[in-house]
Amino acid sequence: MSESATGGAHRGTGDDAGRGDAGRVARDADQVAAGGGDGTRAVRAGLPEPAKYEPTLPGPVFAAHYHLPGEPTGPYTYGRDENPTWTLLERAVGELEAPGQDGVETLVFASGMAATSAVLFSQLRAGEVCVLPDDGYQALPLVRAQLEAYGIEVRTAPTRDDAQLDVLDGAKLLWIETPSNPGLDVCDIRRLAEAAHARGALVAVDNTLATPLGQRPLELGADFAVASGTKQLTGHGDLVLGYVVGRNPDAMTAVRRWRKIVGAIPGPMEAWLAHRSIATLQMRVDRQSATALAVAEALRERPEVTGLRYPGLPGDPAHEIAAQQMRRYGCVVSFTLPTRARADRFLDALRLVDDATSFGGVRSTAERRGRWGGDAVPEGFIRLSVGAEDPEDLVADVLRALDASAA
Ligand SMILES: *Cc1c(COP(=O)(O)O)cnc(C)c1O
Repeated sequence: MSESATGGAHRGTGDDAGRGDAGRVARDADQVAAGGGDGTRAVRAGLPEPAKYEPTLPGPVFAAHYHLPGEPTGPYTYGRDENPTWTLLERAVGELEAPGQDGVETLVFASGMAATSAVLFSQLRAGEVCVLPDDGYQALPLVRAQLEAYGIEVRTAPTRDDAQLDVLDGAKLLWIETPSNPGLDVCDIRRLAEAAHARGALVAVDNTLATPLGQRPLELGADFAVASGTKQLTGHGDLVLGYVVGRNPDAMTAVRRWRKIVGAIPGPMEAWLAHRSIATLQMRVDRQSATALAVAEALRERPEVTGLRYPGLPGDPAHEIAAQQMRRYGCVVSFTLPTRARADRFLDALRLVDDATSFGGVRSTAERRGRWGGDAVPEGFIRLSVGAEDPEDLVADVLRALDASAA
């Protein structure tokens, strides 16, 4: 696949940017050292050593408890604490989020919110200060209320222009979501992480929208990469999952303890399905980000479309920082139609795009985000998640639906 066909994949990859062929050779050498390129790494991620007559990816282990004579030492004692199917998935996610990095630990959870809550509630105590984005995932305000109920001070600021920098003094934890969902603003992870660390704060990045093939927060200085595996990581809209990857051993011990006491654990079937799905991550992300760029370019030409956002689109307010820290720009495009009625007619007229929430799946979805309340978006605001359909089919469907909704 050519560079242009991957929608900006591998372009402007931070340290590699602008180095031309020499940079490419250096990067390829790094990739081999870290276990190959993204596609190679994705298909092999977390697999056990080959063993004669064993499957490549062992099936889900359904176990509430394990045979455990004598001293009750691990690795497998009780089903809420450990499971061999999680172990393989945790290895896979760790290899993608932090290839070649030692001392990184990964924990999988029952959902993205279970992972989010595990970090926030295990790291923060009454009287401490937490900084959240004010334009992040729609459940963050609920989390905020709960943190405040426990006596934690919560400050918020927008993602754009690194505005969270202004409220960092005295913070114990900085939570970043970039690109933000659904507004698709981007902040400079490296800059925010340096400022937070200078003040003694830990830094967590919600990496759901980017996926580990889009950006690797730990390499950019974050202490935790946290994500919902429900979205593009697994990509088929058929399971709910989350994970935390971290490199601070004490902090991760607290996150593990939180998982144990809350019991927010994934089922073995979900964990196995997720691992199976990760094998195609590179193909899906490349395809979906290339098509998302094509859709954004087509929407840019339409007079009824305002507020078009896609971090991979040259000229987008987020593009410059995105190009520095992202390796792929994701599958979500957002834009606004003039009225709520126009947006509803557009969604009705789409044939290849399901009217559904969530994002990242192989089948395109779109919704009028304002129907939920909570997000500060105009009534005609559409969040479109680009799937794995043929790009020309999808662009044609979107343009046809725009025409049909004009009446
Ligand atoms: C969906 C989502 C979450 C929550 O994940 P669940 O798996 O639904 O619990 C968190 N952050 C972002 C950015 C999301 O899109």
